[in-house]
Amino acid sequence: MSAIDPPAICFQLMQTHEPGVQFMQLSRRVRNLKPSATLAVNAAVRRLHAEGRDVIAFGAGEPDFDTPQNIKQAAIDALSRGETHYTPVPGPPEARQAIADKLRDENGIACGPDDIVITAGGKHALFMVFQCLLDAGGDQEVIVLTPAWVSYRPMIELAGGSVVEVPAAIDNDFKITAAQLAGAITDRTAAVIINSPSNPCGTMYTPDELRELAEVLRGHDHVSVISDEIYEKLIYGGIDHLSPASLDSIAERVVTINGLSKAYAMTGWRIGYVCAPGGDPSLAKSIVKLQGQMTSNITSFCYAAVVEALTNGGAAVEAMRATFAQRSVLMHRLLVAMPGISCPRPTGAFYVFPEVGAHYGKRTPAGRVIDDSVSFATALLEEAGVAVVPGADFGECGNRHVRLSFACSNEHIEEGCRRLDGWLRSLA
Ligand code: PMP
Ligand code: GLU
Repeated sequence: MSAIDPPAICFQLMQTHEPGVQFMQLSRRVRNLKPSATLAVNAAVRRLHAEGRDVIAFGAGEPDFDTPQNIKQAAIDALSRGETHYTPVPGPPEARQAIADKLRDENGIACGPDDIVITAGGKHALFMVFQCLLDAGGDQEVIVLTPAWVSYRPMIELAGGSVVEVPAAIDNDFKITAAQLAGAITDRTAAVIINSPSNPCGTMYTPDELRELAEVLRGHDHVSVISDEIYEKLIYGGIDHLSPASLDSIAERVVTINGLSKAYAMTGWRIGYVCAPGGDPSLAKSIVKLQGQMTSNITSFCYAAVVEALTNGGAAVEAMRATFAQRSVLMHRLLVAMPGISCPRPTGAFYVFPEVGAHYGKRTPAGRVIDDSVSFATALLEEAGVAVVPGADFGECGNRHVRLSFACSNEHIEEGCRRLDGWLRSLA
């Protein structure tokens, strides 16, 4: 293997960069920034496929379906109508009204169009929320329930906050308890972020469990709640989705993040939104101010697609949801039959986060020692042609895990799991 072997590069990319010789003086902020591990795995798979290598990709954090035709057509029509100019920063009133209607009718959130800002994806929405809630150089803490999506930590740290990880137990389907939350809140806690259904865990909090967390938060009105509901539509375990912003006791402190990427197979469109009712000056107005100095509005002809998706997208979402439900059963059945693997049953999103740590300390047929999630994922990709995301970047407690996405065909799931099973059995 050469020093510039693509998978090695992919995993090296995840390490913090030491400043080297450079022509331009880069900020400490970006020098210390870790690249996204999930995007690094996607990039490595793309490169390996381009080289003709046979890789089964379980790294993808996006639906493998095409955007429904009626949604595409709405954008094409808007483009043909000449909707090609700057728009109001938070989006035109009709699109924000469609989002507010959805949040009121489906999620029970009391909000109106002025509480909504349409953003370049949920990622951008979250980035701006942290920028608006946290001060650089302050000592504010954000509680992150781990394992948690790889981008929360960098976004919080870039905004000047520090992350307090509250680890969830695998035995409790990766959910923290109300007592754990209560124990983590301090005078410095600025916010807590909840992501149900969860990336990377694929599990969900029940409505009662969320009510218990809200009960703890009720007594701490200096703490904002950020609810990332991007996987809200992809649920299949019999657990209902509950939006914390629908709970009166904390509603005015809850920021809801959502978008079209996952539900409508629109990851490349970059459409997200934030709903932040209440407050004076309101968080929504602050986000508009920030976005106005940053990206202005999202691509103008995409707003028509937002309205079409939210008003006529239900059947397509249901078809995709049903497919993910069936794949979740297949993926979970194959995984838990493998040696040394434990994994809660997925109930939402399109991920599983199995514990693989029982294999640490073993050696692969090619002589590699497996001692953490990065060495596990690197060797698996190199030796068996299966791409997974190492668990370490999802929080400290993730290092004994890897993330697999089942946003791929049954044939891919079967073949990838056959390779993974064979490779695990070859470890000694
Ligand atoms: N939150 C979570 C938990 C995610 O997994 C993602 C996926 N990238 C996002 C937010 C943001 O998605 P997007 O920017 O595509 O809307
Ligand atoms: N959220 C997806 C993932 O976790 C997409 C990639 C990203 O933005 O992190 O894989």
